[in-house]
Amino acid sequence: MQKINLHPIRRFLYFYIPLHMMLYYIILFGVSDSLGKTIITNILSFIGPVTSAFLLFFAIQRTSSKEKVFWKFLFIGILFSIVGEFFWYYNNITLLKEPPFPSISDVFYLLNYNIILWALVFTVSFYNRKTRTLITILDIFIIITVVLTICWELIYKPFYLSSHSSFPEIFMMISYPLTELLIFFGLIHITFLLNEHFLSKTTLKLLLYSFGIYFFVEVIFLYYTAIGFPLTQKITEPLWTLFMFTIGFSSLYTNHSTKIKENETRLQKLMRGNFLPLSSIGVLITVLVYSIKDFNILMIGAFICFILLFTRQLLTLKENKQLNQLLSIALDSLEQKNKQLKETVFQLEELNKIREHEAKTDFLTGLYNRRYIDELIVQLILKAETERSPFSLLIIDVDLFKSVNDRYGHDVGDEVLMKLAKIFKKSIRSSDIVGRFGGEEFVIVLPDSDLEDGKILAERIRHTIAQNKIECAGYHIPLTVSIGCTTWCKNDTFNELYKRVDGALYEAKRNRDTIIVR
Ligand code: GH3
Ligand code: MG
Ligand code: MG
Repeated sequence: MQKINLHPIRRFLYFYIPLHMMLYYIILFGVSDSLGKTIITNILSFIGPVTSAFLLFFAIQRTSSKEKVFWKFLFIGILFSIVGEFFWYYNNITLLKEPPFPSISDVFYLLNYNIILWALVFTVSFYNRKTRTLITILDIFIIITVVLTICWELIYKPFYLSSHSSFPEIFMMISYPLTELLIFFGLIHITFLLNEHFLSKTTLKLLLYSFGIYFFVEVIFLYYTAIGFPLTQKITEPLWTLFMFTIGFSSLYTNHSTKIKENETRLQKLMRGNFLPLSSIGVLITVLVYSIKDFNILMIGAFICFILLFTRQLLTLKENKQLNQLLSIALDSLEQKNKQLKETVFQLEELNKIREHEAKTDFLTGLYNRRYIDELIVQLILKAETERSPFSLLIIDVDLFKSVNDRYGHDVGDEVLMKLAKIFKKSIRSSDIVGRFGGEEFVIVLPDSDLEDGKILAERIRHTIAQNKIECAGYHIPLTVSIGCTTWCKNDTFNELYKRVDGALYEAKRNRDTIIVR
């Protein structure tokens, strides 16, 4: 996602929106009615959704994948609102009074709300399983039905049925708060109950507060319109504009990252336990029982059946919960076992690596052992035969090493062998390989080298050791080495090669501190 600094735009709107609202109210209340006032207030009202449309349009450009779809929904929704507004202003200006209710504008306003609802369903369904999404939507519908039924009984019925309102009028009256309430609950669900969503918390909270507040504004408006209180239109009209502003404004928080909660909160657990829909049905039943004046047997039967069904449902839920717990225990132990298995596999792999390493190294000096060097030479012979790339071989024997042990002790002898190993390692190229054949006998393999290369290296080693005493346990021990040197010749077998180099060493041993090349 492209990161854009939205801060200056937010800061501007923080200043601009309150100013806009103030101006709107001043004109509404302070200026006497005229065509000019109607036009200006209409323009002020229009700026809200139009600004939002721009902000949403840029949010679509800025964001990617799922979030982009969400902002597209909201953008199309706000376009419908703008069309609705347009019709309303047109009527308002041509008729010079407020258009009748409901008008064509209301259809467009409701379309906007419906599109926002779909955007929320899209958001909920994106991370949830299908059944979970459906349950959520049903829960929301249950709560809304309860709220509406109670509202109808206590608010609408007393006013509207007595004032003989028409069906479209009543339909619209119900539709506005209904869809706002649906959106409000949808937003609560996404903000507080979903573990994962692609919208930032600030975006969601802004939408949530604006829909929550506007729902109350709408209810108050409807109530006061019903009782014919004249000021209400003037008070609530600018609030609609503010509400439209906030929809676009919420898109300015797209860059805020959303933290994903690992564990369910207590509230989430309560909600998942169907607390809200069940308790709201409970409230409805209480109101129902309270309002029934004369009971008959059928009613009592239906009521008892309902209570039994309700209890049955609760028990099923409990059973489900227990099954879920068992499942999660089983999953936990499976996860634990899996972890242990992974650990064991890891340890085995490590052990294997150590074994592999031990199998080819000499424990005292850390150099390769005879087995590895023998295998290597077999490989090099094969390579030399096919690729005509000769290699050289040195066998180094420390002269009179027995006397080192006799004079300084076996431990010092060991340390001397380690020091020698270091000297050999330092003397070779990175492609050469040093090994210890056992005792005080070492081997150096020089891949891609001829006899001359071997001879040069042998001389360097002989010279280094002869010229430098080995410092060990406070002693300065003079040493010399004898070296046999050879190179692979065409058709040489493993044994022939070794025989030749051994012969060279044997001959070198005669004089000691000598190199014999064969
Ligand atoms: P030269 O080769 O010059 O004929 O004399 P040398 O004394 O080196 O000959 P020899 O092969 O008879 O003796 C090798 C000695 O190396 C015998 C043993 O004490 C010693 N040796 C072999 N392996 C080890 C070891 O791992 N540690 C120590 N400290 N000494 C070892
Ligand atoms: Mg020896
Ligand atoms: Mg020796």
